[in-house]
Amino acid sequence: MSEQLESWPYREARHVDEHLKRAESGDAKSDDDPVLFQTGFGPSGLPHIGTFSEVARTNWVRRAFSTVSDRPTKLIAFSDDMDGLRKVPENIPNGDMIAEHLGKPLCDIPDPFGEEDSFSGYMNAQLRSFLDSFGFDYNFVSSKDMYRGGEFNDGLLRILECYDEVRQVIIKTLRNPNRDEWSPFFPVCENCGKVNNTRVTDVHPKDGAVSYVCDQSFRGAEACGHSGTVPVTDGHVKVGWKVDWALRWYVLGVDYEMYGKDLIESAELSTEIVRALGGEPPAGMFYEMFLDENGAKISKSKGTGLSIDDWLQYGPLESLAWFIFKKPKKAKKLFFEVIPRSTDQYLEALHDYGVATESEQELDNPVYFIKDEEIDAGEEVTYESNISYSMILNLVSVLNTDDRDMVWDYLRRYDDRVDADKDVIDDLVDRALRYYREFVFPTKEYKLPDEEVMPGVEQLREFLDQYDGDDPEEIQTATYRAGKDNDIKLGKWFRSMYRMLLGQDRGPRLGTFIHLYGVEETLNLINERLAEKSAGNAD
Ligand SMILES: [Zn+2]
Repeated sequence: MSEQLESWPYREARHVDEHLKRAESGDAKSDDDPVLFQTGFGPSGLPHIGTFSEVARTNWVRRAFSTVSDRPTKLIAFSDDMDGLRKVPENIPNGDMIAEHLGKPLCDIPDPFGEEDSFSGYMNAQLRSFLDSFGFDYNFVSSKDMYRGGEFNDGLLRILECYDEVRQVIIKTLRNPNRDEWSPFFPVCENCGKVNNTRVTDVHPKDGAVSYVCDQSFRGAEACGHSGTVPVTDGHVKVGWKVDWALRWYVLGVDYEMYGKDLIESAELSTEIVRALGGEPPAGMFYEMFLDENGAKISKSKGTGLSIDDWLQYGPLESLAWFIFKKPKKAKKLFFEVIPRSTDQYLEALHDYGVATESEQELDNPVYFIKDEEIDAGEEVTYESNISYSMILNLVSVLNTDDRDMVWDYLRRYDDRVDADKDVIDDLVDRALRYYREFVFPTKEYKLPDEEVMPGVEQLREFLDQYDGDDPEEIQTATYRAGKDNDIKLGKWFRSMYRMLLGQDRGPRLGTFIHLYGVEETLNLINERLAEKSAGNAD
């Protein structure tokens, strides 16, 4: 497998390859089976940015693997819809009605939105349309179908066979009082239908069955007191989460799965369990979580942080994919300012992809993963001009306009290659206008320079008045000198310029900006502002 390719999906693909060698040297896998990538989904809530990023990243590893191997692959999106509901999510309607069903499997609870046959039916439908909207190629598999359809039966009987070994893995992590009682099996109570309230009292390996009592009440969910004996097969019994993960790996033969940093310990225990069953754990890696602007973990039930819909209002999907692609093991803060930055880094990579001369340069560029469909369809994937999203945002800000044609006039004057990138830039102009209307315009506050800064403004005016060149660097130097020559602290000098021209404290590199906006136009703008100043003084 190619060692030269350096980006992380190839590193992961090499781990898949090593895993396959181990699995196929035992009986865990035949080399006719497709290589199986899995991603898990908890249907107690709606899909969110974490769902998107896990599926996207898993798909990128799958693409890297397919780039260096001829073996067929498959991606499973697995929904844990047999899980019991422990708490009513805050962001759903009909919470009181749902509260009556606490403790039951999600697939046996009514849909709070009244659209599908169950709570998880609604969430699963949302997940599928969410994944479809991004064009992911996946197979949907649900826990309910696997358990109740009998697909997990062999694995469940195997857990009963290895009962003590599986118990040992988990009980060493439990505090003493809970140890003796603990069982990997959670029967669904035949009387009240709850799965979170039952406790196994005896196992019957020869009969493939367990006895239980329903006596584990928790806040909001009373246990009914019923006791009985049920087979472990056909959905009468579910296994606890860490065992459930191992069961999936074992029965489906999963070769690759990634998970959030909060699940590292679970993954280690599930690894021990699948080995106890005689299976081979998949290759995989953990990724870091998203944080909000203040560095706190994003809560999906409370809906804090920047949502995927928010992002797509102001940045293209590719910029979100870029943000997720880069350094998956680093915690990332999600807030508005990362959108233009990610978009600009993506545009640079897109440009590099277009001019790459070696195939390794293409294969190692994140664009190879982000624009997979276009590349595989043979479309030209490139970005020719020098226009960044930050530049468009700044231009819209100084033009103070809703007029897209006016924005285009300026862009064309700045870079005559813009029409080659028309679709990409058009989309960015739309988003920039929206961003400006909703966030920049309401906070704009123009301020005129104070007396200490005025000599610098005069020097810059004189420069602009006589300048007939076309070089952003020369303009930048002259702008810098205007502050420096007049002993103005540079921080104050540039801030004063941004305050006067843009109505904000920060802004673009002025040389680039004046070149884009126009030398004469900038001079006129300064003159207009100064006229306001003297009119103000006359009052
Ligand atoms: Zn019960």
